[in-house]
Amino acid sequence: MSHVPAADTAYGVGTAPSGAAALAFQHEVVRNLICRQARYPDIATSHDWYMALAFSVRDRMLARWAASTKTYAEKDVKVACYLSAEFLIGPQLGNNLLNLGMQSEAREAVSALGQNLDELLAIEEEPGLGNGGLGRLAACYMDSLSTLEIPAIGYGIRYEFGIFDQEIRDGRQIEITDKWLQRGNPWEIVRPDLSYYVCFGGRTESETDAEGRLRVRWVPARQVKGVACDMPVQGYRVDTCNVLRLWKSEAVESFDFQDFNSGEYYEAVQEKVVSETLSKVLYPNDEPEAGKRLRLAQQYFFVSCSLQDMLRLADAKGTPVQRFAELFAAQLNDTHPSIAVAELMRLLVDEHLVSWDAAWDITQRTFAYTNHTLLPEALETWGLPLFESLLPRPLEIIYEINRRFLDEVRRAFPGDEARVKRMSLIDESGGRKVRMAHLATVGSHAVNGVAALHSDLLKQTVMRDFAEMSPQQFLSVTNGVTPRRFLMLSNPALACLLDKTIGADWATDLARLDALVAFADDIAFHDAWRSIRADNKTALAARIKSLTGIDVDPNALFDIQVKRIHEYKRQHLNALYIISLYRRLSRTPDLDTASRCFIFGGKAAPGYAMAKLIIRLITGIAEVVNSDPAIKGRMKVVFYPDFNVKNGHAVYPAADLSEQISTAGKEASGTGNMKFMMNGALTIGTLDGANVEIRDEAGAENFFLFGLTAPQVDEVKLAGYRPAEYVRANEDLRDALDQIAQGRFSRGDKETFRPLLDSLMQHDPFLVLADFADYVACQERVSEAWHDARQWTRMSIMNTARSGKFSSDRAIREYCGRIWKTRPVRIELGQP
Ligand SMILES: *Cc1c(COP(=O)(O)O)cnc(C)c1O
Repeated sequence: MSHVPAADTAYGVGTAPSGAAALAFQHEVVRNLICRQARYPDIATSHDWYMALAFSVRDRMLARWAASTKTYAEKDVKVACYLSAEFLIGPQLGNNLLNLGMQSEAREAVSALGQNLDELLAIEEEPGLGNGGLGRLAACYMDSLSTLEIPAIGYGIRYEFGIFDQEIRDGRQIEITDKWLQRGNPWEIVRPDLSYYVCFGGRTESETDAEGRLRVRWVPARQVKGVACDMPVQGYRVDTCNVLRLWKSEAVESFDFQDFNSGEYYEAVQEKVVSETLSKVLYPNDEPEAGKRLRLAQQYFFVSCSLQDMLRLADAKGTPVQRFAELFAAQLNDTHPSIAVAELMRLLVDEHLVSWDAAWDITQRTFAYTNHTLLPEALETWGLPLFESLLPRPLEIIYEINRRFLDEVRRAFPGDEARVKRMSLIDESGGRKVRMAHLATVGSHAVNGVAALHSDLLKQTVMRDFAEMSPQQFLSVTNGVTPRRFLMLSNPALACLLDKTIGADWATDLARLDALVAFADDIAFHDAWRSIRADNKTALAARIKSLTGIDVDPNALFDIQVKRIHEYKRQHLNALYIISLYRRLSRTPDLDTASRCFIFGGKAAPGYAMAKLIIRLITGIAEVVNSDPAIKGRMKVVFYPDFNVKNGHAVYPAADLSEQISTAGKEASGTGNMKFMMNGALTIGTLDGANVEIRDEAGAENFFLFGLTAPQVDEVKLAGYRPAEYVRANEDLRDALDQIAQGRFSRGDKETFRPLLDSLMQHDPFLVLADFADYVACQERVSEAWHDARQWTRMSIMNTARSGKFSSDRAIREYCGRIWKTRPVRIELGQP
């Protein structure tokens, strides 16, 4: 993202940065430098200038925010609330400038102040408030909601420490605490006036009130205060500015510090420390069970604050609570916020004195649930003792929901007690647990998977009983990504070429990219296309050189796999192929094959030993391959450290080949696959997640398909999968595994990779070895295709042209129309 061309002139809006507008903006920046940073130009550091610029941009958004909020308060509008434990929003400054149509104006203003916009953009700390795809999806959806002028609130947690920063030392991942707030967050507005109390622990008491109703009172052991921290979400070239409302936890002073005597004082301070711990840190994915109590507390904390906030908004509007579901649609992004079902019931029944049946009707009409995974280990459950000690009242409510629900099941399937057991919200096998996916499903009117294949598998596997009982409840909404951030902002030169070729409307109507098909054989267009791609690759090569010291040739085929490191995503399948290619090149120095640069990026969960070992393997291979003179630079292997949204901006537009090689049936959708496709990469992939739809859209001839299908994976496993047989049958595979075992990629140490090899040879739960031969054959087809540059360019253009479906705007329109029943509301920015 180093070069922003005179782009916003081409986009048609905010045209011709008049010197006057830039000058006015320049004055705003200086005013903010003085008034908010307490600095003056002569002594300001780059960071001071970044802050002053960010505040000036924020001021513009706040004017739109005020107009949006006022409109929502005054008009009869329905608000989409997106509840998510993660929002991986990425760097804000560049995107906000883009959406406001201010890129040139800002560039001009800061350069008049002796600063360079690209340098200021590079300073920004990325808020790492998510692990990967799921959190990034939530951020793309917030962008689309604002751009489509849908009233919306994103609700989540303001983690003090987001996902760790990754460094690579001695080939291994080192986790560094993410201190993203250390120098202040200019995008955030803390609202001490917007705070709510959340109860934990203690016990419940019941009594009959004056009107003869049974009332339950939760007497908590402690309370925590949640304070709203708001971040504005500006729509693209519209005046809608919605809010991302993140909760931070604080101690409740009056609660902690009243009536203590000397000995209790320090206990009270201790309590305060515990309270403030709640929003301290984001949990990484794929961690073992330990320390989960805090995670359940985090989930309940942000959900309770969010629902209390929604009830307050309804009340401020004068809307009776009975009409709550007409005012709000609430989407549960995976099961992390699914305790919301019990919490809304508690708030309605215990605090607003709504009858159980009316409350249940409101709850079901309000919520909808998105399932993101079929992996059994990722389906959340909480042990009853933990749940009861932390959330005694919500647990009672879950029991009552379950009692009534299981009666319904018995009515629908008389005598089928096995089914009743399977569908219960409580898992009675082994240690008793609350099944959060069941709670989310029972409390929602709609349940969706995130790609067609995933939604089908959902109905056949983990949600089978539920789909049999109420099939109309289940639907599919294929994920999408925002073309503003992942095309316009990160690939400005390509965006500019698209504007010139097919007009600028594609930015908010991505299906228009289809008009590129007419240029798929246009020689002049090919040249422009290739030259932009070459520049992007050169820019990535320069970043790689400065980060890792590795020289890569921008003319090589850039073969890229960036995503969280996980066995199901099979980075090790890619690694095995690389070893086999390296061995072939070593044996036959004159082998006529495409020169390749393999680039990996991604974080491994700190407690996921196998994922960390995969990183170690990749860096080990890189060390050997990159320093082998016999290879003559015909292949390079790079592990690009600290993959995050910011680094993604540089990576996706520079890829020739996108690696989407998960075991079929395991990747729910994927969204990285979509970012690559939009930017003109070809995909090598299995029939998994949204790859299926990517291939349908691009055309089979523009996609490199390999591997077992999901049903075949099941068949192989059912027949008793024996990975060793595949090793015996394939000499290249045997050789690659043997090289690892001999310590070739671990400086002679034969123990380093033993757990990885043992796992592959003995269990291979993700069928790496079963798919190896077909993957290698497919990579051969890739190399052949690369030789024909014109044909490759054609395929690249076709991929971008057919990527329209994968805009998050399309996905959000589906959620609005099919699930939320929300409509756009035009915001008019009045005179301030
Ligand atoms: C898009 C994105 C992901 C998701 O990638 P997948 O390939 O779909 O797993 C993860 N991390 C970041 C930083 C992303 O931008």
